[in-house]
Amino acid sequence: MRAHRAQVDCLALTDHDTVAGVAEARQAARPLGLELVPGIELSTRHGERYLHLLGLFLQPEHPRMEEYENWRAAARRRRMRGICAALQRQGFAISFEEVQEASGPAAVLARPHVARLLVDKGYARSFHDAFNRWLGSGRPAYVQDEVLTLREAATLVRDCGGISALAHPGVDKAIELVPQLADLGVDGVEVFHPDHKPHQVRRLTKLVQDNKLVATGGSDFHLSTPKAEDPGWVCLPPEWMLLLRMRVQQR
Ligand SMILES: [Zn+2]
Repeated sequence: MRAHRAQVDCLALTDHDTVAGVAEARQAARPLGLELVPGIELSTRHGERYLHLLGLFLQPEHPRMEEYENWRAAARRRRMRGICAALQRQGFAISFEEVQEASGPAAVLARPHVARLLVDKGYARSFHDAFNRWLGSGRPAYVQDEVLTLREAATLVRDCGGISALAHPGVDKAIELVPQLADLGVDGVEVFHPDHKPHQVRRLTKLVQDNKLVATGGSDFHLSTPKAEDPGWVCLPPEWMLLLRMRVQQR
């Protein structure tokens, strides 16, 4: 609804590690004449780095996707149990069950849910403080995440009939990785993103062209972010959309 009001005509839904919202979004989009692109944002690892990979135009009901979601949900629960155990060792009264209850049954369990609980219980002053002192990388309650490698994630997207694109490389300082993407089985790069600076968009555009990749883009709209501009304030220019659709047809 919000996307429609903002005059968006094509919207990709790319929730973190799940396609669970696609069916509902499709239903909401249909009467509005809004095209809904089924997608996902996968957590991946490449060497020592953690990167996000977008999967677009994929078949959400594909059995490989279901298998992935089940594995990932179990991995998230294992990680959350580890985080809670580490916090308990620090003397905090926080249990896995509490985090699960506070986040709701349908939620994709993640660190922000514990961070909120740490703030609510007075163990941290803010979200930022919770990550800084306890939950962030290298901090006492940090537990490594089990994720697919970038190559495995690209294969998953391809198996499900979709197009993969490295998400927000300008934010993750991963622009220098772009020339290797095709060899890893990745189709493209998210060039247009709210946090990409104009010089990064120019550089990424050039790299996409030089390496025969496709470009994607969007507003990375999260309802929870305070600076919630409407979806569509950053979008994919039509000429790039056309190239993306051609790539989808070849799949
Ligand atoms: Zn991301």
